[in-house]
Parts: sequence; structure tokens; C-alpha cells
Amino acid sequence: MTFRKTALALLLGTTALLGAGAAQAQQKFVTIGTGGVTGVYYAVGGAICRLVNKDRKTHGIRCSVESTGGSAFNVNAIKAGELDFGLAQSDVQYNSLKGIGAFKDNAFPELRAVFSVHPEPFTVLARPEVGAKTFTDLKGKRVNVGNPGSGTRASMEELLTALGWKLSDFSLASELKADEHGPALCDNKIDAFFYGVGHPSANIQDPTTTCGAKLVSIAGPAVDKLVAEKPYYAKATIPGKLYNNNPDPTETYGVLATVVTSAKVPDETVYQIVKATFENFNEFKSLHPAFAHLEPAKMIKDGLSAPLHPGAEKYYKEKGWLK
Ligand code: GLU
Repeated sequence: MTFRKTALALLLGTTALLGAGAAQAQQKFVTIGTGGVTGVYYAVGGAICRLVNKDRKTHGIRCSVESTGGSAFNVNAIKAGELDFGLAQSDVQYNSLKGIGAFKDNAFPELRAVFSVHPEPFTVLARPEVGAKTFTDLKGKRVNVGNPGSGTRASMEELLTALGWKLSDFSLASELKADEHGPALCDNKIDAFFYGVGHPSANIQDPTTTCGAKLVSIAGPAVDKLVAEKPYYAKATIPGKLYNNNPDPTETYGVLATVVTSAKVPDETVYQIVKATFENFNEFKSLHPAFAHLEPAKMIKDGLSAPLHPGAEKYYKEKGWLK
């Protein structure tokens, strides 16, 4: 798909060169890898592209969004040169850069940070009759652990290691994609699922409304130790009443969503993506309720373990946000 897009970009670039002169010759296609269409990554990518494409005439960039398997898929596709940008959980960013955890033997030192976005508390949703109050109540249950390639799955593996559990501690460890886990829960194919996602999200809203699914806390000594040890984890609370049938707050922990790219992506491309987002920041924030609390000063620093891409750094310096 990306090969086809590159070929098309070259073709259109050439046509434009012949037809419309130098400005259009710069026509460039940029693709942002996201997650499932019911998650928040897809909305982040859509919001960025919408703002970038508004100014296409001046910078010549045509931005498009691809729904993908999630964070780990995105960083690996950026590394392979198949995506220009992607969304990634801050733990995935850290582990990919350094080649640890799920990225052992697959370090990506050219990974570059662009900015961070919304918090992603790890979210467990269970069928009401399971009566689960906390994650460890799910031992022996049918649990969706996330598709390979998702950040969700990588974080689930870290949680299981911290607890001293294995996938076989569940009676079923299914690997459905995020867009499929809600329907599977309400169809009684699984007892619970685990998902790192921003709130509020349609993905969580649907099962809480359709089949009264309940949020389950992830807390206890093993989680305290994990959060203390790993720089990318922090405690988080999902507020009560945010979702139907869930009046009380839910204690958990989580990461930040981040936008990443490769050192190989040209400075000018990254600069234009960042500029479009921050010059239209109020519009950006209005495009999804999970963006409501975003602040530029935090977005250019929190959750970023990879070096900032020089194209992003240039814009932040121009704004006086960075020295
Ligand atoms: N954090 C999730 C993952 O990387 C994706 C969440 C979303 O699509 O909003 O698997």
C-alpha cells in the first residue's frame, strides 16, 4: 500500500511539475499510523491530517490516516519506512528506542518524538456477572489480552510479568483487535478485555451502554512496584460517571499517547505537521473529548523519551517554548 502511495506521489509530483509549476512539485504524501477506528489514536491522526490538509496549497503535503494494529505495529512500520508518523504509547516509545521488553533485538535508535497527546489509563472492562473488582479477580477467566502489534498487548505482558502470571493463568487469552473486543464482551465470548486508551472513548462507551460492562481497577503491591520502577508509568483514575453503569472512579495506572516519527523524515515535513497542529490548537482540542485537557507546554516534554525530531524542535523554539 505504501509502495503504491509512493509511486503515486512520484507520479503526481511529476505531473504537477509539468502542469502547475514549482510549488506543486513539492506535493508530498504523508501517512500517520493510528489504531482501531473505535479508539482515540484514529481520532488523533484524523485531527492532525485535517489541520495539515487545510493548508495543502502552501506546503504541498497531503496527509492521510491509516487504521493499524496499534503502537508496536506503528513504530515497526516507521522503522521499515512504510509509515512517516505514528501514534505510540509512551512505554512502547521508550522500549523501542532502547530495544528492551517487546523490542529486545529490535531497537530503533532513529525513533524521534514529535509531541505527546492524551493520557491512556490501562482500562479493564468486564461482564457485570463476573463481579470483578480488581484485575487479579480475572484469574481463570476468558480475557482478551490484545492483538500482537498493539501497545495494549505489550503493556499487558509487562503487567503479567509484574504479577508473576502467564497467559495460561487465564482460561482463554484471546487476541482480538480493539474494534472487536467490545462486541465479543457483549456476546459473552470473553469475560473481560484489557485496553490502553484515552477517555472518553467510543470503544468503552459502547459495551458499558449495550451490556452494562463494568470497569475493573488495576492496583495492588505488584502494580505499585511496577509504577515505581518504570519511568513511563503513572497512577491514573478513570472518573466515575464518565460511562453508563459505572458511577464510581476506577483506580489504575497508565501511559501517555505520543506522536512519533523517524530521524529519516525531512525536517520540513515534521515542522509542517507540528505547525498545523499548534497553530490551530483550539480546533484540534475540539475534535475529540479526550483532548480536552491538553496543554502545549506538557505535550512537548511529558512522555517523550526519544529525542525530539529537529523539525518539531525548530517550531517549539520559534514559539519560545524551548530554549
Ligand atoms: N494504546 C493502544 C495501542 O497502542 C491504541 C489506543 C487507540 O487506538 O486509541 O494498542
